[in-house]
Amino acid sequence: MSEVRAPAPPRRHLLSIADLTRADVERLLDTASGLAGSLDREVKRLPTLRGRTVVHLFYESSTRTLASFELAAKRLSADTMSLRAAGSSVDKGESLKDTALTLAAYGPDVIVVRHPAIGAAQLVAHVTDAHVVNAGDGKHQHPTQALLDLYTVREALGRLDGIHVAVVGDVLHSRVARSLVQALRLVGSSATLVGPPTLVPPELAALGCSISHDLRAIADADVVYVLRMQRERMGPGETFVPSLREYSALYGITPERVRPGQVVLHPGPMNRGVEIDPRVADSSAALVTDQVRAGLVVRMAILYDLLTVPAPVSEPARVEVA
Ligand code: ASP
Repeated sequence: MSEVRAPAPPRRHLLSIADLTRADVERLLDTASGLAGSLDREVKRLPTLRGRTVVHLFYESSTRTLASFELAAKRLSADTMSLRAAGSSVDKGESLKDTALTLAAYGPDVIVVRHPAIGAAQLVAHVTDAHVVNAGDGKHQHPTQALLDLYTVREALGRLDGIHVAVVGDVLHSRVARSLVQALRLVGSSATLVGPPTLVPPELAALGCSISHDLRAIADADVVYVLRMQRERMGPGETFVPSLREYSALYGITPERVRPGQVVLHPGPMNRGVEIDPRVADSSAALVTDQVRAGLVVRMAILYDLLTVPAPVSEPARVEVA
């Protein structure tokens, strides 16, 4: 006699900003705000995800994202395991699929993936039963960064909509910019991409933002969002600016170029003296440390949400996070 089984609930992932609704974003940010209080307690650990396992699979270097995900999982009492490509069997030629299948055999609840190839997190979601979080796939998406940026902006400016953000620098190679522009649109805010035509080509307007090659365009913005030159995504010998000195002279964010009342964000790592003047980086206008703190609570909220909020029944086919 064949056994009738209830269909497994759809798994939820966070692969891209594209499939989040505004309500999803607000729920995640509100959860993060609620968790922020736990950071100042003497005992910071919450029992919420006891018995759950979170695996981090990182094929690209990371400081903030990996550190905050590991700490986020630990603060929620989950078991964690982190695998960096260097020193693992990836060095011996193992494919992403085989590495993912190997890790999946340990039964993780969540796999957090960073990889230089676009679509890598999607692949892991396809071949494993875990909830998958995209911690950066090439120049494509970095949704958890965009969520922590929105959180930081909301804390600083008290709202999410009607905000104008100038994103300055190497947008061409930036997953941070792509996710942020989408996220801003979702919550009723807007972006202008600013930089030389080589790093801010006209086709990027298709993301749903305006473009300027003149740094004076940042004057209208509430937020100046600074990006570094992402050399690891440029080909060997490929150059996009005549020299870093010239780039810095034209597009570097100096104190003179920041208007009173503007706030300055940077996803890190910063190259002081290139895209951002140290006097700006160390000023009270810079919210870089706030972004790092936000990264912890927002990633706690994402893990909590994926593992405790049921997927919407009305949209069972949806693949990405709800
Ligand atoms: N940390 C961010 C990223 O992983 C930004 C950067 O590396 O410039 O994309």
